[in-house]
Amino acid sequence: MMASYRGLAVVAGGAGFIGSHLCRALVERGHEILCLDNLQTARPSNLRLLEQLPRFTFVEADVVNPLPEEVTRHSDQITRVYNLACAASPPQYQADPEHTMLTNVVGTHRLLRLAEQAGARFLLTSTSEVYGDPEVHPQRESYRGWVSCTGPRSCYDEGKRAAEALTFDYARLGRAEVRVARIFNTYGPQMHPDDGRVVSNLICQALTGRDVTVHGDGTQTRSFCYVSDMVEGLIRLMESDIDGLEPVNLGNPVELTVNELLERVIAMAPNEAKIVYRPLPQDDPRRRRPDIGRARALLAWEPTVPLEEGLRETFRWFAEEVGETAGETAI
Ligand code: NAD
Repeated sequence: MMASYRGLAVVAGGAGFIGSHLCRALVERGHEILCLDNLQTARPSNLRLLEQLPRFTFVEADVVNPLPEEVTRHSDQITRVYNLACAASPPQYQADPEHTMLTNVVGTHRLLRLAEQAGARFLLTSTSEVYGDPEVHPQRESYRGWVSCTGPRSCYDEGKRAAEALTFDYARLGRAEVRVARIFNTYGPQMHPDDGRVVSNLICQALTGRDVTVHGDGTQTRSFCYVSDMVEGLIRLMESDIDGLEPVNLGNPVELTVNELLERVIAMAPNEAKIVYRPLPQDDPRRRRPDIGRARALLAWEPTVPLEEGLRETFRWFAEEVGETAGETAI
């Protein structure tokens, strides 16, 4: 059955990992998509898949610069603006920290202005990194965080905090209707191989027979949300009638140590893997687990894909992408 037409959605960062899944889900729900991306961390194959979708247009643009006329001329048709533009993995966002900060502040400002001009609803993908290395566990939206404003992660953490401030100011001033999602670690197919994120790194190293690297002693914890659950949460938040003046945590509350994740990945690997321990990066959070009470209450949302199932799917996808021989492994 054809989905009924739901208007034009701008997805900035739409060629990235989460963005490419979001674009597909929005097309399936009847949206027309204008995807804006500077291709900084997008995988070219994500874009090739997206360009086969109906009602999908790609515009190569950096949100730090004035938005191109190909976008602004559609402002009377735009009903939704999703802002996912920003490299999410530490090595990638630290490669050009000035650009990361500007993407979050100037880029968010440009997209908020677009939403204002269009009378569209705006959603910011913020991050659990606004909680820094948290002293409160699990992390609730009311926790104000323990964030370094001088360290190597601050271009991202403080950039996102500034983007949240700007977004809520737009709402308070009545200039745009806004939603803010604080995303916790998300994984799944179409991630960038070896981009420094723990799931993709461990899987790619295990698949290709390289040493598997663990930073720190592996006792630090994370909570991993499968990408289809995340996309469902983002769309529910955007479409909800909640008062947008509250950020909403989206993530999977099942917490495990990096060592426990590693055990599961190694069990799927085709060959025995050698584990190498490396120093923990500066300001790396020791514990991370979302309190998703607000998302449950406001959006009737919670993750549905168990870690084993999500990891199997991700492993299978990476096996096809990066491990020619590993692709034959029985998983
Ligand atoms: P990603 O790096 O795969 O995707 C980001 C996309 O934004 C890429 O396609 C990149 O080319 C594009 N981009 C970056 N800077 C841009 C700019 N200045 N102009 C235009 N495009 C730009 O990352 P992702 O995992 O898909 O993350 C998407 C969003 O979700 C990001 O904003 C990230 O901060 C947030 N987030 C992700 C996670 C996670 O675990 N994946 C966790 C917390 C927050």
